[in-house]
Amino acid sequence: MGRSEEEWEEIRRERRKKRKRQVLMTRLIFGIFLLACVALAAFLIFRTIGSSSGKQNTPGTTDTQGTVSDQQTAVTEKGEDPQTAGTENGAQGETEAVTEVQSETQTEYDASQLTAWEPTKVTHVFFHSLVVDPSKAFSLTGDSGWDSMTPGFCQWMTTVYEFNQMLQQMYDKGYILIDMHEMIDETTDESGTVHVTPKSVMVPNGKIPVVMSFDDLSYYHAYDNRGIASKVVLDENGKPVCEYIREDGTVETGDYDYIPILDKFLEAHPDFSWHGAKGTIALTGYNGILGYRTDIDYKVKEHLMTDQAQWLDAHPDFDWDAECAEARKVAQAIKDDGWVFASHTWGHMHIGDASLEKIKEDTDKWEQYVAPLIGGSDTIIFAHGQDLANWDQDYASTDKFKYLKSQGFDIFCNVDSTQYYVQIGDEYLRMGRRNLDGYRLWQCVYGGKDEVSDLFDASSVIDPDRPSDASFYSL
Ligand SMILES: [Zn+2]
Repeated sequence: MGRSEEEWEEIRRERRKKRKRQVLMTRLIFGIFLLACVALAAFLIFRTIGSSSGKQNTPGTTDTQGTVSDQQTAVTEKGEDPQTAGTENGAQGETEAVTEVQSETQTEYDASQLTAWEPTKVTHVFFHSLVVDPSKAFSLTGDSGWDSMTPGFCQWMTTVYEFNQMLQQMYDKGYILIDMHEMIDETTDESGTVHVTPKSVMVPNGKIPVVMSFDDLSYYHAYDNRGIASKVVLDENGKPVCEYIREDGTVETGDYDYIPILDKFLEAHPDFSWHGAKGTIALTGYNGILGYRTDIDYKVKEHLMTDQAQWLDAHPDFDWDAECAEARKVAQAIKDDGWVFASHTWGHMHIGDASLEKIKEDTDKWEQYVAPLIGGSDTIIFAHGQDLANWDQDYASTDKFKYLKSQGFDIFCNVDSTQYYVQIGDEYLRMGRRNLDGYRLWQCVYGGKDEVSDLFDASSVIDPDRPSDASFYSL
């Protein structure tokens, strides 16, 4: 059944036509696809410009409550005083929604959406363990109406109520938590020495960087029955929560201190944290860490203070090795949760008054009995508000600095009520911290000395259950 030449030619012509149609169709589909891509890209660019200029809400979000005016992005120009920035930002209101949307896509920020802050314009605030039950911490019962420790708890402690108010107000003003390492670039030379240089802190437009630190997370024996948590434990998901012992001895676990409280706040307000920063937790060692009795004295039963001996008597089954293993596990979970650890010296020492020899003894203990449990630290936060030298002295030339630097510390913190206290030398970041405790709140509300207005309104933050008697707040 042969076909004629004409028939073959007809068939070939048809095939050529068919191929041509196919090519045309493919080109048409490809063209439509290209057009769609261009349209999508244009839409995304428009959306990015729209949200960064703050003139419109991000499309498709359901929790956007209001628009952001141009002011918001202009508020935090480089180096601007956050006191002013915070006030303006706070006065605007309705600004949370957009920043919250941004945080969900934190990795997608481009340069136009970030504001550079000089490290010298970063404020640092600190706390102790929070008071769950003010009636116990600020005990006004007993024969004299109070006991010898009441003034200490009144001055140094912040209540859960106060901490929650502060977080909300700071968040509303635009503050965002950063880690101190954001403020420096670090390089290590051939000899192993770490050198630091100042680095601009880049945070989302409209945000104000703040560092938070927390001292003495040991749950000292002295805190027993003072309405404060007793230890950090892990919940069923391996997340750090706190144990709290009720009057009748009932043990409860939950949000009884700043770790779980801040964690919960950040779950609701993820744009309160930059790069996952939470806080720096400063640890001593003499009563153990995190509520675990990990110091060597509990094992060898030497040099015991009365309260330590009493605790050991009350816990005859105490197993020091198991205690250390548990503390290590909890410390790891706290780090995995985004927190950072620091030294607070082993013995809560007066670093300024102490001899270099005493500092070496103390540091040896910290390195032996605290550092291994937390994986070490490059940060030291001094106790009693002391420091190695005055603010105007040549820090790096002091013997105490040289020694602590040789022990691996690069970041050094003291206590200072000024808004900014940041010094960056070739080998150190030195930072002052503002105490947001009962002493500061009392001074703000009753003492006529408000030094926290850039952060929050002290009179609406102070706990109504906090005693106001001046005698509890005089140092
Ligand atoms: Zn302390």
